Amino acid sequence: MAKAKIAVNGYGTIGKRVADAVRAQDDMEVVGVSKTKPNYEASIAHQMGYDIYAPAENLGAFEKAGIPAAGTIEEMLEKAELVVDCTPGGIGEKNKPMYEKAGIKAIWQGGESHPIAGFSFNAASNYEGALGRQFVRIVSCNTTALCRVISPIDRELGVKKVRVVLARRAADPNDVKKGPINAIVPDPIRLPSHHGPDVRSVLPHIDITSAALKIPTTLMHLHTVNMETNTDCTVADIKRILGSQSRILFVGQGISSTAEIIEYARDIGRPRYDIWENCIWEESITVHEKELYFFLAVHQESITIPENVDAIRAMMEFENDGAKSIEKTNKAIGL
Ligand code: NAD
Repeated sequence: MAKAKIAVNGYGTIGKRVADAVRAQDDMEVVGVSKTKPNYEASIAHQMGYDIYAPAENLGAFEKAGIPAAGTIEEMLEKAELVVDCTPGGIGEKNKPMYEKAGIKAIWQGGESHPIAGFSFNAASNYEGALGRQFVRIVSCNTTALCRVISPIDRELGVKKVRVVLARRAADPNDVKKGPINAIVPDPIRLPSHHGPDVRSVLPHIDITSAALKIPTTLMHLHTVNMETNTDCTVADIKRILGSQSRILFVGQGISSTAEIIEYARDIGRPRYDIWENCIWEESITVHEKELYFFLAVHQESITIPENVDAIRAMMEFENDGAKSIEKTNKAIGL
């Protein structure tokens, strides 16, 4: 079977990880990545063997910097069957006519809103709905994490409602423009925040609201999840249901903070200390009548990466079974 030809437009936090995850699979390949400026990330992409494409007006700057560019972004799209747009939120929408003109499939990230693709994706929730689609949006890091816990519990017990408080990292570790902050910022002040309700772009029947706070950290987000189920359950039931999900990791053994989760990822040799799984403190899982609570940490830079790979596989119709795609993706990236 020929490998799917994938272009990655926007080689930043998400784009560089998507490129590496695609490259690790045996049924897809990266035909090019795009950079706007010839900076250190472009230089590393070149050293890693990626063909780099740039906006036409910036090609001269690449030549001057001694970083070879293979052509324009439009030329990259000509080589691709599917583009993964990893540009900053809002720019992806402007790129849509370019993808339509190229006649290729496209994936956008959570910084764009649902209508851009008309289908929002989470592998554990609605893989089959992405089969053969032209356009798909991968939901944000927080929505991905919530879908991963809500879907399996809903399937087995029925979810009556979900209430979430999110403590959000103020900026990514490399972001010198937004952080660090010395404050706790209700974000936004008007409730609910968009995070929980965005789950309904994947699971429209779920009653969910959320509140979010920005806090002075760059490492991870942390959710306090409160869920009411339709059916009686025990802590053991919840541990069994969540524990059966390959992209959920129970943490304990003295890990008492997001900093120690990151240290764990470093110690086990994860690339860029990425943690693709939801991290749930097993000890925090509490059930009172039909209400359950737990703490969930989210590595915002990497949690959506395996979802991008699964979405590609579904859109290309290489695998009809979501569980099989999840297993294949996980194995190839080392999860
Ligand atoms: P980023 O700023 O780290 O990277 C974006 C990249 O796109 C940069 O390399 C930038 O130079 C490049 N770019 C900018 N304009 C471009 C253009 N017109 N054409 C081609 N490339 C262009 O952003 P990011 O954090 O990787 O976010 C990308 C998307 O992923 C956004 O929708 C964001 O909301 C979403 N997302 C981000 C995170 C996160 O925590 N960083 C998590 C989940 C989803």
